[in-house]
Amino acid sequence: MAIIAPKGTKDTLPSQVYKWHYVEKKFSEICDKYGFKEIRTPAFEHTELFQRGVGDTTDIVQKEMYTFNDYANRSITLKPEGTSPVARAFIEHKQYAEVQPTKYYYITPCFRYEKPQSGRLRAFHQFGIEIFGTTNMLADADVICLGYDFLHEMGIEDIQLRINSVGCPECRKKHREALRKFLEPVYDQLCNTCKDRYERNPMRILDCKSEICQELVKDAPNMIDYLCDECKSAFDDVQKNLDAMGIEYVVDPRIVRGLDYYTKTAFEFVTDSNGTQGTVCGGGRYDHLIEEIGGPPIPGVGFGLGIERLIMLMEENNVEIPEPEPVKAFIAVMGDDAKAFGLKLLRDLHKKGVKAEMDTLARNIKGQFKYADRLGAQYTVVIGDNELAEGVVAIKEMAKSEQRQVKLDDLLEELAK
Ligand code: ATP
Ligand code: MG
Repeated sequence: MAIIAPKGTKDTLPSQVYKWHYVEKKFSEICDKYGFKEIRTPAFEHTELFQRGVGDTTDIVQKEMYTFNDYANRSITLKPEGTSPVARAFIEHKQYAEVQPTKYYYITPCFRYEKPQSGRLRAFHQFGIEIFGTTNMLADADVICLGYDFLHEMGIEDIQLRINSVGCPECRKKHREALRKFLEPVYDQLCNTCKDRYERNPMRILDCKSEICQELVKDAPNMIDYLCDECKSAFDDVQKNLDAMGIEYVVDPRIVRGLDYYTKTAFEFVTDSNGTQGTVCGGGRYDHLIEEIGGPPIPGVGFGLGIERLIMLMEENNVEIPEPEPVKAFIAVMGDDAKAFGLKLLRDLHKKGVKAEMDTLARNIKGQFKYADRLGAQYTVVIGDNELAEGVVAIKEMAKSEQRQVKLDDLLEELAK
């Protein structure tokens, strides 16, 4: 039996890959415009990085990681998200000693053992950005604004920005107690995961995807009602900054992010689309992450954006993505001398930056024309012994079925035009 791809993974065939090139290029361009520099980190890390960086009580660490022991018995994990590896690299290469803040962007594969569904894969891809080294809410607004502008530039019109504050360890303590008190009478009705969350990190219950739990927490106390003065004023600042930038948002007290070390700002970009599980981009501030993984106390803020979900939304919105240019010149040859001439011409065209191809299946001339047609070639150049002798070739413009004679000496110039 033929081997097929593992469940939850997807191939991107050439007929689709141009969409990826397009969004990757646009994302790089907008990041560059905002002053973010690209960083690339390995596909796997020491498991401990994610245990500490993402957090032991999260779904990711508890049940979604691809973890294995390598041949030297080290525990290795395929990266489930982009932030912790980038933070690890930031510390390891002492980037905090450079001019601050540090602004990174990344494009990365991610691996999570989840139940595959539309918009939920086991091997997927993320765009992400991070700003390390500032607690100023201008950075939070900068991060949100980049996400906002990018999603709009990609033609996702019906997207909504939802923001919240998850406070700091201090004010969260009070909220945690209030939440436990609220949930105590319904503890038995919580799903098993949430029973565990109740003990370890009850705020995560607000993010549970089970309908029963969602119903149970409907009137649960919200974090924003428990914010300390500092967190409250930070949340006000983010909103002021977003207002100043003309960015529309709604405050959604139910947004809690999946990572344990999120502090203060939390946000998501959501749509009504079922196929994408609602959220296309999520992020926030994580002032204790870098310390948690062994670095100095340096704050951070950033987001992760699912590329598969983004492309799915663009398709649903019928966004036109420019298709790649077809072959400009197909060189059809008859006879050995023509073949040798054609090969040389092909090389010269490539050197001049012209998209050009020749047949490699020894087709007859009729077959070569058909093939040129299938490729969508703009022009077909016909070279035979006669043409070589007379120093003239025929160039056929395929779309118009028009043909004209061009001197061999002028051919290169003509096609490179
Ligand atoms: P969800 O609530 O949908 O599980 P999440 O909170 O786990 O999302 P993040 O960890 O914030 O997601 O990742 C950022 C983005 O990465 C998500 O908004 C989504 O677009 C994308 N993403 C997350 N998990 C997957 C997955 N399994 N398959 C495809 N895209 C994903
Ligand atoms: Mg998830």
